Amino acid sequence: MVMSLVRKFTSKFYLQKVYDNHFRSTLTRLLNMRVRLVPALEDNYMYLLIDESTQTCAAVDPVEPEKLLKAVEEEQVTLSCVLTTHHHWDHAGGNVELIKKTGPLPVYGGDDRIGALTEKVGHNRQLTLGNLNIRCLFTPCHTTGHICYYVTGEGEEPAVFTGDTLFSAGCGRFFEGTPPEMYKALIEILGNLPAKTRVFCGHEYTIQNLKYAEHVEPENAYIRNKMEWAKKLRESNVPTIPSTIEEEKKINPFMRVQEGSVHQHVGGATDPIEVMRLLRLEKDTFKAK
Ligand SMILES: [Zn+2]
Repeated sequence: MVMSLVRKFTSKFYLQKVYDNHFRSTLTRLLNMRVRLVPALEDNYMYLLIDESTQTCAAVDPVEPEKLLKAVEEEQVTLSCVLTTHHHWDHAGGNVELIKKTGPLPVYGGDDRIGALTEKVGHNRQLTLGNLNIRCLFTPCHTTGHICYYVTGEGEEPAVFTGDTLFSAGCGRFFEGTPPEMYKALIEILGNLPAKTRVFCGHEYTIQNLKYAEHVEPENAYIRNKMEWAKKLRESNVPTIPSTIEEEKKINPFMRVQEGSVHQHVGGATDPIEVMRLLRLEKDTFKAK
């Protein structure tokens, strides 16, 4: 987290030299789409969302354009637009350079601070990629213009790109927002997506997040099992992404603000928005033993 702050103030050249990342690129095949995860910087994930029927794709948060374009070539698809989750440099910082390389493409996002933005989108705005539907979900809090992208196709094996709003087992810091906003984003918007929706988030923070989740709910067996699983994957540099909405509801303290065990941890508070506030406050300075 500290690094993401540093990143914003450091030159890209320097960063690319320092953070030669070691995560593997992976491919998730769903019914009508495939999602290529492309690691970037220290622990960021960029994605190619590919529509199988037309072999066109959208780039999600392409902070390292060259790496992203190499993946486009490897997948033998045509890049047709850019989906930006939020304006932070480690997500939107590659947009201008990407467009320089590809020529004009639609660049979507919810914030005027996003580079190369061609269209500002709001809640429930529908986009299409070949035969896929993309619904924009306005989820301000980490930043005031944060958008998640919910993707469906015929046959329903949905996916959602959550940027820095929802991480596996955690959520983004409330840099420009409030606990009620994160409650709305995580519980009312993302929490109401179909259980099997695959969650593709913006960072590999799963193990750090699970350490905090274990601290909140030491008796939660789902968290314990997920930690064992995640550690095995990380040993071989395999990303822990995607998870599902169903799974996040079992392991993610920020999606469990209505659970008695979580209330107990925050000293008996029961109002879910107050619980959200207390969890974030504690997590902001949490150091795993
Ligand atoms: Zn961010």
